[in-house]
Amino acid sequence: MPTPESPRVLLPEADLSSPLFVGIDLGGTNIKAALLDDAGRMIAFHTEPTEVARGPEDAAARMGQSVARLAAAVGLTAADITAVGLGTPGPQDLASGMMLRPGNFPGWDHFPVRDRVASHCGHPVAYANDATAAAFGEFWVGSGSAASSLVLLTLGTGIGAGIIIDDLTITGAHSHGAECGHMIVDPSPQARHCPCGQPGHLEAYCSATALKKRAAERLAIGGTGSLADAVAAGEPLTPILIGREAAAGDPLAHELIMELADWLAIGIVTLMHTIDPAVVLLGGAMTFGRDDSPVGRGFLAQIDAAVRRRTFPTLARDTVIGFATLGGDAGSIGAAGLGRLAWKHRTGAAS
Ligand SMILES: [Zn+2]
Repeated sequence: MPTPESPRVLLPEADLSSPLFVGIDLGGTNIKAALLDDAGRMIAFHTEPTEVARGPEDAAARMGQSVARLAAAVGLTAADITAVGLGTPGPQDLASGMMLRPGNFPGWDHFPVRDRVASHCGHPVAYANDATAAAFGEFWVGSGSAASSLVLLTLGTGIGAGIIIDDLTITGAHSHGAECGHMIVDPSPQARHCPCGQPGHLEAYCSATALKKRAAERLAIGGTGSLADAVAAGEPLTPILIGREAAAGDPLAHELIMELADWLAIGIVTLMHTIDPAVVLLGGAMTFGRDDSPVGRGFLAQIDAAVRRRTFPTLARDTVIGFATLGGDAGSIGAAGLGRLAWKHRTGAAS
């Protein structure tokens, strides 16, 4: 078995007398673990392959040990850590701390991940959906840190979502709160099918998978231009390619992205009319270069305009729609933040 690399220390001058928190983000590819101080600054970071096939007990042991390894990287022990949080993909039962039937984790069904990680690190573990953890990261120290409430939509292979209102994570009575990717945006008989099996869900229109599918359909019926040429020349049809060709001025690529923005706007308006968040953030791999790229800015502007046409004047004026900023670290940062929050609730510490 290969020895995992040592954690990277990012803040060697950190004040280690601050309460310290470890957040763990379990993904299908990697386990990410971060050591943060009380202000949400990342002191050290560690990532290693999940190696799903080694099974959940093995991964739980490594996740638990990551607490001690991060502490050791700054000369401390696991006992010096104040609190620990963990985010995993759903579906899950949050009350019992269990992963139920996680899609990319064959053989992990009904694994009590929260308590197994807790037994390996010696701390109680605050347990959340990974998308909720990412939303909490943005709420704590990311682009929602000035807001009282936010929704994060993570656009990737699927759509993840998290809702935070005044330090409360919306988890639901059955651990299915904030399943915003499965909001119905198209009730028509022609509606596209979501990977969950149901028709008309947001994810069936706005995920990377959905964008590739719509692009392939348009090319199959004779779509022309530089996107069509690139695919004909053998380039894989990906959101990155579509974004690149949109930036180069290809009308079809541009139209595909704007259509996606229009569908996303329908979902965002429903969220605004349900919970009225201060901020709606878009994160994930499929954000077309975000504010740094004309395509990303055009994508956001299209969403913004479509939302404002469909909502109340007050919400049109005051709701902020923007890009998330923490990227792939949002989940581990947010898990640490949720560990911190649970610790504050346990101890009555002031926030
Ligand atoms: Zn669905």
